[in-house]
Amino acid sequence: MIEDKNQQKTELSDLGEFGLIDHLTRDFKIKQKSTIKGIGDDAAILSFKNKEIVISTDLLIENVHFDLSYMPLKHLGYKAIIVNLSDVYAMNASATQVTVSIAVSNRFPLEALEELYSGIETAAKIYNIDVIGGDTTSSTTGLIISVTAIGEIKDGDEVYRNGARPNDLLVVSGDLGGAYMGLQVLEREKEVFKVNPNNQPDLDSYTYIIERQLKPEARKDIIKLLKDLDVKPTSMIDISDGLSSEIMHICKQSEVGCDLYENKIPLDPQVISTCEEFNIDSTTIALNGGEDYELLMTVSQKDYSKLKGNPNFTVIGYMKEKAEGMHLVTRSEMKIPLKAQGWKSF
Ligand SMILES: [Mg+2]
Repeated sequence: MIEDKNQQKTELSDLGEFGLIDHLTRDFKIKQKSTIKGIGDDAAILSFKNKEIVISTDLLIENVHFDLSYMPLKHLGYKAIIVNLSDVYAMNASATQVTVSIAVSNRFPLEALEELYSGIETAAKIYNIDVIGGDTTSSTTGLIISVTAIGEIKDGDEVYRNGARPNDLLVVSGDLGGAYMGLQVLEREKEVFKVNPNNQPDLDSYTYIIERQLKPEARKDIIKLLKDLDVKPTSMIDISDGLSSEIMHICKQSEVGCDLYENKIPLDPQVISTCEEFNIDSTTIALNGGEDYELLMTVSQKDYSKLKGNPNFTVIGYMKEKAEGMHLVTRSEMKIPLKAQGWKSF
């Protein structure tokens, strides 16, 4: 579906193992004060002075986590960084550095890796982080990308999953279900393309949800906004697996229950119309579709006035005593137990 317009193909073996990372990262600039030494030596050196250090790591495997038939390599590089930064922000921290390691089979020429790294560089620029190292090796099966994100946080600013208390507000940033519906559209077009390769897909009415799938953003802006509003959530998690399973993580670790209101779940109009087209229930998609990378948090009632009316936040429920359980309150005011189907890569 997405053709490789770059005709030049340089075999990776022409470059040699040691030259590859240096070549791919030659234009990367150091931006963070905490980066003392980046790429180019046996190891990187960082200095965080009196800050706490946050580390998160993630592994992405071709045909498990991504499909190159509709995922351009540049987008893949961008997304690989974003999904890791999202975990750092979910701790209420700022992201500062990443390491990127890849394993590639010889079906990838150098130009393909340059595409991948241009996406990585774009994310590094936009999110103001340094790429400080990594490794490349060969793979017999496909492309594997491992990213480790590093961040910093002032002692006391950390927000964990286990701090929610009964009566706290359950709050989410942005809207939900877009990435999953974008994936459904891309999967459908892939099937159409298999049957008729000359068919040019018309994706105009799906631009938002396709972008949510192919070029997601991490909510760095929400972490800043919370600071500006002087709101420290009592707990927080990023939504990578679907709202339902993330709520359950917070409830279990905080030992609380919750009521989630179906009619409060924020959905983009394009998610609603695409769900109608695919004959899928939009609530099910918001609860169980993955990869939205919004932030889910609980906030003390005393902070409600600071968030009220802010379009970046939606109050979708309340935390309860553990014994009251975890429920979805439907539009018809029925209470049904929350289930986590989640976004399972296994
Ligand atoms: Mg996470």
